[in-house]
Amino acid sequence: MCGIIGYIGKGEAAEVLINGLFRLEYRGYDSAGIALIADGDIFVRKVAGKVKELAQMTSGQLPHSHIGIAHTRWATHGVPNDINAHPHIDCRGRFAIVHNGIIENCRTLKRFLEEKGHKFISDTDSEVIPHLIEEFYNGDLIAAVKKALNQIEGTYGLAIISLANPDRIIAARMGSPLVIGKGREEYIVASDLAAIISYTDQVIYLKDGEIAEIRKDSIRIESRELGLVTPEIEKVTWTLKQIERGGYDHFMLKEIYEQPIILRDTIRGRLNYEEGTARLNGIADYIDDLRDADRIIIFACGTSWHAGLIGEYMIESLAGIPVEVEYASEFRYRKPVLSQGSICIAVSQSGETADTLAALREAKRQGVPVLGICNVVGSTIARETDAGVYIHAGPEIGVASTKAFMAQVMAFALLSLLLGRQKRLSLDEGREIIEAIRKVPDQLSQLLKVLPDGIKAIARKFKDHRNFLYLGRGYNFPVALEGALKLKEISYIHAEGYPAAEMKHGPIALIDKEMPVVVIAIKDAIYDKVISNIEEIRAREGIVIAIGSEGDEQLKKNVDYAIMVPQTLDHLYPLLTILPLQLLAYYIAVFKGLDVDKPRNLAKSVTVE
Ligand code: GLU
Repeated sequence: MCGIIGYIGKGEAAEVLINGLFRLEYRGYDSAGIALIADGDIFVRKVAGKVKELAQMTSGQLPHSHIGIAHTRWATHGVPNDINAHPHIDCRGRFAIVHNGIIENCRTLKRFLEEKGHKFISDTDSEVIPHLIEEFYNGDLIAAVKKALNQIEGTYGLAIISLANPDRIIAARMGSPLVIGKGREEYIVASDLAAIISYTDQVIYLKDGEIAEIRKDSIRIESRELGLVTPEIEKVTWTLKQIERGGYDHFMLKEIYEQPIILRDTIRGRLNYEEGTARLNGIADYIDDLRDADRIIIFACGTSWHAGLIGEYMIESLAGIPVEVEYASEFRYRKPVLSQGSICIAVSQSGETADTLAALREAKRQGVPVLGICNVVGSTIARETDAGVYIHAGPEIGVASTKAFMAQVMAFALLSLLLGRQKRLSLDEGREIIEAIRKVPDQLSQLLKVLPDGIKAIARKFKDHRNFLYLGRGYNFPVALEGALKLKEISYIHAEGYPAAEMKHGPIALIDKEMPVVVIAIKDAIYDKVISNIEEIRAREGIVIAIGSEGDEQLKKNVDYAIMVPQTLDHLYPLLTILPLQLLAYYIAVFKGLDVDKPRNLAKSVTVE
């Protein structure tokens, strides 16, 4: 969370930094700020609110400069106001920093610094950093930064400028992502590629424990453990077009509409009809371990956790291998017991999710292999896992994840097919699954043509309701959870997802004629049971919005609203049933007049615990 950026080079720093902040804004947007070195001074401007406010406030007023840093914040310590916004400076304004992460021992450090006479003006944890550097500075900037970092417990992605060394930016990383783009006589350091790819496709991913000293035409990287290291320059494949809105009102809508293409990318080259199986080259060396595992443990957070839950159902029923799904944040702290026959799968869109990363490290510490299902190539989780599957969803900018979820579920469909074929699926069954998988992108394209009008009408009708229930069974129970999460995230409407049969163990008490209940009632193995659950809701006058299978005329008669999806195999239904729920949440938020791409309190890529 939070976007940091630094620029040094022949160009106009202010322009690159403000443009970069706009591109990073999906990572955090409660306040923003910029610091530039100009006319022998560090010039700082910052403001509570979105990047637009900073851009307006500083328009035409920022000095010419070739070096600077900037920040768009997602507050952890101290409310979002002008003072707590970054950059932060030391007592004499000689050092300025932008920080992503949390300084866990900030209180102790603050006390130590105050005793030495340092004056603090903000409530942030980050402000200790410039003061620590000031305290330790003895004419050698890198030495002072290293000493400061040695005092810090917690996580950081940092960019630092100093008046005494106006020819360099110092960047440092521990737990929060940083990428350095190398241009011609210029470098940009940023939290992610979005701020870099309009300038260059040559990048260096900074690793934990590394400090980079960046001048306009050279870079020097020192690792805490390895000493001086040679920077590895990699070429980026994402394009500028992918990170732009392309005519859609919101990134979320664009990403919903991209889903058919994304799924084609996720499955490209990975289906082998001849043998009725899937091919996942990234984890080829671990297929035997997965097949023979006594337990597969999937850990993830949020939407990725829902995808993991669908993965569990798929792998257990198609391949018969025991699977558990853990919240990464719980897994890491609850002293999990892993047997040597276990194998873990970490699922994360960004590949930077702090809790998932910590769970991964805990599993590796216990000597268990960890595979990854990630979107962002080169991300920390992608690097630290033993092997992995990229989902190829392209950059996801919408804070509420849609296309990454879809692609994660597809990755699990491929994995369960592959493992299923090794365990108990016949060639014909494998081929049948492949045929069904191949149809999904076209089925989604078709749905995207026919669904929106009906869903808009439902959204208009229910946008002011305060509560929603989402019910589903089997593979569609996690879809109910995900549908409820989407609604909460962007519409701020309280929504609960439940396994449909659990309703009678409590939530049924909530049902009255004011309660919209979204029920996924497709024609799968447990259809009849779900129909009984619908009757229970109707008997209590609840409003039923059903997601059903095309051709189910009976269902249409039995519910208040019916949204139909084409038929597919039971385990592939989530790829279709989630689409109307994404659209429903989207249009409710739009009709409520909310900022869909910047939902309150949230941010993309949760890099703090
Ligand atoms: N912990 C810092 C703050 O609250 C940085 C948060 C962020 O990553 O945006 O200001």
